[in-house]
Amino acid sequence: MQCKTICFCTTAIVKRLPIFANMDKILDSFGRPLQYLRLAVTDRCNLRCFYCMPAEGIDYVPRQELLSYEEMLRLTRIFVQLGVTKIRLTGGEPFVRHNFYGFLKRLTKIEGLDKIAITTNGSVASKHIPFLKEIGITSINLSLDTLNKEKFAEITRRDFFDQAMATYHSVLDAGIKLSVNMVVMEGRNIEDIIPMAMLTKNDAVTVRYIEEMPFNGKGARNTIGYNHRKILETLESNLPVLFPLTFEHGTTAQEYSIDGHKGRVGIIAAWSRTFCSSCNRIRVTATGQMKNCLYDNGVLNIKRMLTDGSSDKMICEAIKAGYSKKYKNGIEAEAKQANPISESMSSIGG
Ligand code: SAM
Ligand code: SF4
Repeated sequence: MQCKTICFCTTAIVKRLPIFANMDKILDSFGRPLQYLRLAVTDRCNLRCFYCMPAEGIDYVPRQELLSYEEMLRLTRIFVQLGVTKIRLTGGEPFVRHNFYGFLKRLTKIEGLDKIAITTNGSVASKHIPFLKEIGITSINLSLDTLNKEKFAEITRRDFFDQAMATYHSVLDAGIKLSVNMVVMEGRNIEDIIPMAMLTKNDAVTVRYIEEMPFNGKGARNTIGYNHRKILETLESNLPVLFPLTFEHGTTAQEYSIDGHKGRVGIIAAWSRTFCSSCNRIRVTATGQMKNCLYDNGVLNIKRMLTDGSSDKMICEAIKAGYSKKYKNGIEAEAKQANPISESMSSIGG
């Protein structure tokens, strides 16, 4: 297989003749295709969720070490050429980066991306949701760990509950696909599991419960108390009948419909890592480190290649070589690291 240099005229041909799209599709050594890119657009954040960052925050990298928007756009085109059809923009908080909307507008013009998704804390996005709909953003994941305003402030160490809820309603009103992410933490928000599930009664939302991972920027690695089984037990014993839905290839959530509810619930076994066999994703951190897995320390410094005069073809080849090193699963990836990672999810790009 040959790597094609990406240029405008290639894109135009690809648009008319889809047979030429993704000619450089890549598989890892377990046969899993690369289809999904998670790109952290910043390591900065305006909240301090205790499971993600220490109260005093983390040491942000100097601005010039972050990928520029131009670099992100070039990188995305390269990944599309390699088979990526879905991108998720995350961080840090993507909406706090200057001119994020201008970047999004340009990103939506890239041919070959079927899905453009964003993960946000919802603190500053609500007014701009109609614009996101207009330019073709396909889905939004909103992080919300409780429906209690005081508890929200305790967990995030900031008072943005009303703004997050305004984003929740704006996304629903705009008709953009909405998922809510709740990190489940024993001693903190177990009693919120059912009230959060009740959002699905009348709203077309998927409420997803995430096992807490040890990426809190403090190095602490506790064994989690409340795993995916306990979450399911809690849901089953408090809600009408749950129907498991077919596990969608490349996703991380086992979803369930609920008798009489408009929305769904889902459980993400992020720490137990039960979904790795169909993993089709790659991560690029805000500083341009490519990671095959949340639990590895990075396999390629793409930022360096984007700035040292490397051609698209050279970057394609380096990505292919990096992707071929993907471990069978997150347990193996973690075991192979000399120093298990525990940096903030905000730097990794959750
Ligand atoms: N700031 C945005 C937000 O909070 O949605 C995007 C970045 S945040 C790092 C992405 C996702 O990672 C959020 O849904 C957040 O709840 C989740 N997350 C952060 N730290 C986590 C941890 N230690 N364990 C599990 N999920 C975590
Ligand atoms: Fe910020 Fe998101 Fe981390 Fe919370 S989870 S501190 S909102 S990056």
